[in-house]
Amino acid sequence: MTRAFNFSAGPAALPEPVLRQVQEELLEWRGERASVMEVSHRGKAFVACAAEAERDLRELAGVPDDYAVLFLQGGATLLAALLPMNLAGPEAGADYVLTGHWGEKALDNARVSLRARVAASAKADGYDHVPDPAGWDLDPDAAYVHITSNETIHGVEFRQVPDTGDVPLVVDASSNLLSEPLDVRRFGVIYGGAQKNLGPSGLAVAIVRRDLLGRHGRLLPPIFELLNQVKNDSMFNTPPTFAWYVLGLVLKWMKAEGGLAALGERNRRKAERLYAVIDGSGGFYRNPVRPEARSRMNVPFTLPDPALDPVFLKEAEAASLVGLKGHRAVGGMRASIYNAMPEAGVAALADFMADFARRHG
Ligand code: PMP
Repeated sequence: MTRAFNFSAGPAALPEPVLRQVQEELLEWRGERASVMEVSHRGKAFVACAAEAERDLRELAGVPDDYAVLFLQGGATLLAALLPMNLAGPEAGADYVLTGHWGEKALDNARVSLRARVAASAKADGYDHVPDPAGWDLDPDAAYVHITSNETIHGVEFRQVPDTGDVPLVVDASSNLLSEPLDVRRFGVIYGGAQKNLGPSGLAVAIVRRDLLGRHGRLLPPIFELLNQVKNDSMFNTPPTFAWYVLGLVLKWMKAEGGLAALGERNRRKAERLYAVIDGSGGFYRNPVRPEARSRMNVPFTLPDPALDPVFLKEAEAASLVGLKGHRAVGGMRASIYNAMPEAGVAALADFMADFARRHG
């Protein structure tokens, strides 16, 4: 068996050179005479590795000094719950804009901590677009506005950063973090799980404007207090060291590939290629998302008859294309094409899809 092109939504494909480096140095890492998994997170070698990852992330994304970068356990879901209690007190309001499943989940996790409400939602249209920001029902006194920059299941992506004035924008960027250049200053908080564009699961990243933390006035268990992680370089307790190390290697790979501008261009080309096959299939393949909100990272599509789904998946696997089964909430297929998916993988999928449509159309 050989490695296939892996279109999984997350955990997802990692760059092959990164996996090879992990393999090479798995037993003895940086002269430690032990694996990176076996040494103290407070030892010199790991502290240096952790700091290097933060430096590289700051450089890649252009993170200003007045923003903290956190590497945390618990995934995006835990952050969706911790951020509300860290950003404001229980009487404060927070506006949620819903463009899919994960925005709904973030709202569920916020409601117990403050007065979270829906400021706009595309649910009635089956989450096929981003509601026009001009029509958002925003509360000027809200502590923050929350969006999901890319809805991984519905395949809906914000292509513009909405202007929320003085109200900080909090974004769950789990599935498009560092997939193109961004202006960090437009956001109060950018957070996401690492397991799509950045590394293995078990780690989440948060880029937080420092002045937003520590003002909530709540009594929180110290481990829930994000300021404690900021003060302790994300080592208030034992961090997921192996995932952090791999993420560091992925960041180095991203720099070597030309940084976010080059990756963004490549990601745009990859997505265009798949949408061209879908739109050029004479209705065989369908993607329900309005063109201006189509995700560059997750391309969901359906076949003319669900009975064809298992046939598609079986033939795809035989062509070394795996991880294409869609999320059960929307059915059909989904091709996740994060940074680590090479253009050759997308080309192979596009050719397979065109051929499959010809044979089964
Ligand atoms: N938000 C988005 C946009 C996601 O895609 C996911 C995971 N698929 C999550 C949140 C939840 O992430 P985690 O499993 O890391 O908690």
